[in-house]
Amino acid sequence: MKVLLVYAHEEPHSFNAAMKNTAIKTFEAAGHSVVVSDLYRMTFKAVADGDDFLERRDRHYLKRQFEEQAASTLGTLAHDILDEQEKLKDCDLLILQFPLWWFSMPAIMKGWVDRVMTMGFAYGGGKWYDEGGLKGKRAMLAVTTGGPEASYLERGINGSMEKVLFPIQHGILFFCGFDVLDPFVAWGPAHQDQDSRTKVLNRYAEVLSGIETRERVPFHPLAHYDKGLQLKAEFEP
Ligand SMILES: Cc1cc2nc3c(=O)[nH]c(=O)nc-3n(C[C@H](O)[C@H](O)[C@H](O)COP(=O)(O)OP(=O)(O)OC[C@H]3O[C@@H](n4cnc5c(N)ncnc54)[C@H](O)[C@@H]3O)c2cc1C
Repeated sequence: MKVLLVYAHEEPHSFNAAMKNTAIKTFEAAGHSVVVSDLYRMTFKAVADGDDFLERRDRHYLKRQFEEQAASTLGTLAHDILDEQEKLKDCDLLILQFPLWWFSMPAIMKGWVDRVMTMGFAYGGGKWYDEGGLKGKRAMLAVTTGGPEASYLERGINGSMEKVLFPIQHGILFFCGFDVLDPFVAWGPAHQDQDSRTKVLNRYAEVLSGIETRERVPFHPLAHYDKGLQLKAEFEP
């Protein structure tokens, strides 16, 4: 299996770095290959703008999805975007490793999504959700939090982690065609002792070793929606 690990943490001795290193070690020991996009180290350009297109279809009005569609076909996207798209094409499993920031991913990773998941590559022209451009690949979030697990339960002050991660897991990954595996969340590593943190890393290694049988987040395929994009009655919970 080929793994693409996209990693966003600015501190090489952080817990996120330890999770990234655990993933590399675990996958390689099992004979898998791992490619890492270390976004801070790459000084990955996070802002989507006109420089992302080596040629413009319309020089006067920047309509991003229109330019993305054309540039994806012509191969005229900026080279750093094309490099990341090649890594994505080549991988079987995508892991996004990041600390939860403002109930979401750090801007550098959001920028990776904004710039790399282009129309014409990841979605578009009838390719979306379970027919998305990256269909056939799996993806998993590996996330750390500041808050404890209880604060992310259904009645917790932050609301359930399932809901917090919905925009990423459903709106980005499933939308682009990935089978989304249950996320791995390391709850508040900064508030735990060393022994507890080591146990979390060991548990993460176990999860990665059993990745083939990891449950998928149960999202509805396109066939479960009617022409008005409403969930058909028979699939309602
Ligand atoms: C802008 C911003 C927004 C935020 N928004 C949210 C939010 O919406 N919700 C929320 O819950 N939190 C939020 N946070 C908090 C953030 O999610 C946590 O600080 C972060 O997830 C902790 O992960 P870390 O890798 O940075 O931990 P670190 O602080 O880097 O690490 C924690 C501890 O683990 C130790 N460690 C490192 N390597 C190992 C190892 N191999 N073995 C054992 N221990 C090790 C480190 O030395 C450290 O003591 C936010 C933070 C910021 C800066």
